[in-house]
Amino acid sequence: MTGALALLREIDDVGRDLRRGGYSRHVFDDAERTLREWFIERTQRLGLDVAPDRNGNLWAWWGEPGPDAFVTGSHLDSVPGGGAHDGPLGVASALAAVEELQARGFTPTRPFAVVVFAEEEGSRFGIACLGSRLLSGAIPAERAAGLTDAAGRSFGDVAAAAGLTDVGGDREALARIGLFVELHVEQGKGLVDLDAPVAVGASILEHGRWRIDVRGKGDHAGTTALGDRRDPMLPAASAVLATRRAAARRTGSRATIGRLEPVPGGTNVIASRVSAWLDVRADTERDTRDIVAEVAQAVAEAAREEGCESSVVEESYSGEVRFDPQLRDRIAATLGGVPVLPTGAGHDAGVLAAHVPTAMLFVRNPSGVSHAPDEGADDAAVDAGVAALVRTIEDLA
Ligand SMILES: [Zn+2]
Repeated sequence: MTGALALLREIDDVGRDLRRGGYSRHVFDDAERTLREWFIERTQRLGLDVAPDRNGNLWAWWGEPGPDAFVTGSHLDSVPGGGAHDGPLGVASALAAVEELQARGFTPTRPFAVVVFAEEEGSRFGIACLGSRLLSGAIPAERAAGLTDAAGRSFGDVAAAAGLTDVGGDREALARIGLFVELHVEQGKGLVDLDAPVAVGASILEHGRWRIDVRGKGDHAGTTALGDRRDPMLPAASAVLATRRAAARRTGSRATIGRLEPVPGGTNVIASRVSAWLDVRADTERDTRDIVAEVAQAVAEAAREEGCESSVVEESYSGEVRFDPQLRDRIAATLGGVPVLPTGAGHDAGVLAAHVPTAMLFVRNPSGVSHAPDEGADDAAVDAGVAALVRTIEDLA
């Protein structure tokens, strides 16, 4: 038996980020392509038929593809400098579960697929869950095609270079999904606090991303008198501070500016433009919108004072997701009454939940850290996660 831990070890060196630590695996870059090849090779070894759909999501079918399929899987891309488990744990656990079921002589009674969704983190083109959003029609193909990466390459061009010439809503692929179960490392300490290895997902906090642009005047850091400056970094700094203030006033809210890009970005250069990305998650849409409005007002005021201009544009917004209660309860009962936990992290399962019954299994993460190199999952919890997925498949597939 290979096991999920052994599978994860096989890809341990792929996409290591020596500068940031952890892994940087972005859709269609060398590391992510290597992981795709690994997935294809691994599924073929299990006798599955694997092929990409029109949006670059990989589907590995155990038996004939068909409607009302049991689908499990996750993603292989990462945030910049992310952990080893966010995404790959769900894929490796799915492969390990199939292997174990095959060894036991189990054959699914309905179509069955392991899926890898593309660009789940949105780290390259800015929109999280891009593969599942495209598939389900949640983002129009034209808008996706125009998204650009840090090097200015468009998703349309990069996808075409990867052989995808027909990106967009995929009714056929969506219609095949009968239910989707995504196993994922927990991105918090809920299971550590409960001293349990596995939980079933209850809900995903509503969340969104906004892009803040501040335009000023690029100039020399040494020769430009303070009074002559129009420095966009000052309003950007106001945005960062306003973000924390606005979130702190609303219980349960989280708001973050984790990415800030000065252009041109030189130590002895006053930037001509600064872009910042605001990530907001809260209990209600009202709170989210209020936080964004507060930040936008703070940045606009600071921009006026500095002689700059600012704009705030919504890049994506996802309402709260409550996973299918029947499926949730059935899985929790099958697993002997494991805990049911909410999460503040977005997932492809959240996107698909608008169309088909979806469920999530969370696996204990001793540090509680995620989207950083310290993310982890202890060996016992990984094994328990695979066992939980095996039992879920036996029950539902
Ligand atoms: Zn993930």
